Amino acid sequence: MAKKRDYYEVLGVDRGASADEIKKSYRKLAIKFHPDKNPDDPTAEDKFKEAAEAYSILSDDNKRARYDQFGHAGVGGASGGGAGGFGGGFTMDDIFSQFGDIFGDSSPFGDIFGRQGGNGRRVRRGSDLRIKLKLNLEEVANGVEKKIKVKRHVTCNTCGGNGAKNGTSLTNCNGCNGTGQVRKVVSTMLGQMVSTSTCPTCNGDGKIISERCDSCAGEGRLLQDDLITLNIPGGVAEGMQLSMSGKGNVPARGGVAGDLLIVIEEEEDALLKRDGNNVVYDMHLSFIDAALGTSVEIPTIDGKARINIESGTQAGKILRLKGKGVKDLNGYGKGDQLVHINVWTPQQLTSDERSTLESLRHSPNFQPKPGKNEKGFFDKMKDFFH
Ligand SMILES: [Zn+2]
Ligand SMILES: [Zn+2]
Repeated sequence: MAKKRDYYEVLGVDRGASADEIKKSYRKLAIKFHPDKNPDDPTAEDKFKEAAEAYSILSDDNKRARYDQFGHAGVGGASGGGAGGFGGGFTMDDIFSQFGDIFGDSSPFGDIFGRQGGNGRRVRRGSDLRIKLKLNLEEVANGVEKKIKVKRHVTCNTCGGNGAKNGTSLTNCNGCNGTGQVRKVVSTMLGQMVSTSTCPTCNGDGKIISERCDSCAGEGRLLQDDLITLNIPGGVAEGMQLSMSGKGNVPARGGVAGDLLIVIEEEEDALLKRDGNNVVYDMHLSFIDAALGTSVEIPTIDGKARINIESGTQAGKILRLKGKGVKDLNGYGKGDQLVHINVWTPQQLTSDERSTLESLRHSPNFQPKPGKNEKGFFDKMKDFFH
C-alpha cells in the first residue's frame, strides 16, 4: 500500500454521506475484517485498521472538513504508510478503546469487540499433578535420576489437541462470532458499563467442533502412562516439593499443561542418621579396642569404609569424616560423616574374665585421670553443634 486510499473510498460512501451512513458503513467493515473472524487472512487486520482510521476522521466534523479541503495532509496523515497512520500507529487496543463503544448499543455486533488486552482469548492451563517420591539416604545425599510412570492427560496427536477430526473440522462459534467472549453493555447511572464473559456456547474456544476426533472423542487429550525422567538434586529433604513445569495435565481441547509436583519422602536409614548435611553414625567399641587401638569397618553413604581407632580413645569422642555427608542443595559442597564413639562396658563376665579384670583394677593406668584433652559433656556438645 504505497499511497493512502481515500477515506470515503475506504468506507465505501460518497462525499456527501451523512454521519449515520458513515457509521453504518464502518460498522459493516469492522465486522467483516475483524481479525478474530479472519484468522487465516493476514490482510484483515490492516483493512480493519484502515477502516478505523477513515472512520476516526470522517466521524469528526472538524477533521472531516479539513480532510475535505486538504486531503490526508490536512489531518496529519501525509502519504504512504498505509493503514495505521496517525503518525504513530494505530493499535488494535486503540481501536477498541476509541470506537468500541459505538457498537455497544447494537447487540448483534457488540460482541465482536469482546477482546481483552489485545491478546485474544485467554490460554487455558491444565491441572497440576502431585506425586510422592520415596528416596533412600544415598539418593538423597548424592542426587539421583529416577524414571517414573505418571498417569496424566497428554495432547492427542491425531487432532493436535483441538478435538476436531483431523484437527480441521472446526467452525466459528455463533454465540461469540469466534472470539470466545461475549460482551454485555448495561446502562447505569454512571453511563454505559461493559462486561465481558466467557462465551457459554463454546466455553471460550471461539470454535465449535463439527466432527469429533476419533482418537480422543473430541477431548483433545488422552489419559496415558507417561514415562518421566526426574533429576533429583542431592540435598533434598522430607516434605520438600520440586516442580517440573509442563509435566502435569494438558487441559481439554488445547492449552498449556500444568506442573508435575514431586513431594520428597526420606526413607530412614538403619545405621546412619541425617542431621542437616551431616550424617551421624553411632559406633560401639569394646574398651579393649578403645584402650589398644584398632581398625574398624563402618558404614558410610557410599558403602563401607575402614577407619583407624587410636589407642586410648575415650568414650564420647566424635570423629569427623570430611565430605562423607550429604550434598548441599545449593551447591555448597558436601557435609561430613560424624562418628560418635561409645565404649561398650561388658554386662556379663565369666569367672576367668572377672579375675583378669580384678588383677588390673588397682593398676595405676586404669585410674581415670581426665586432663585438658578430655572435654566434658558440655564442651563436646558445643564442638558438635558449632
Ligand atoms: Zn484427538
Ligand atoms: Zn462462543
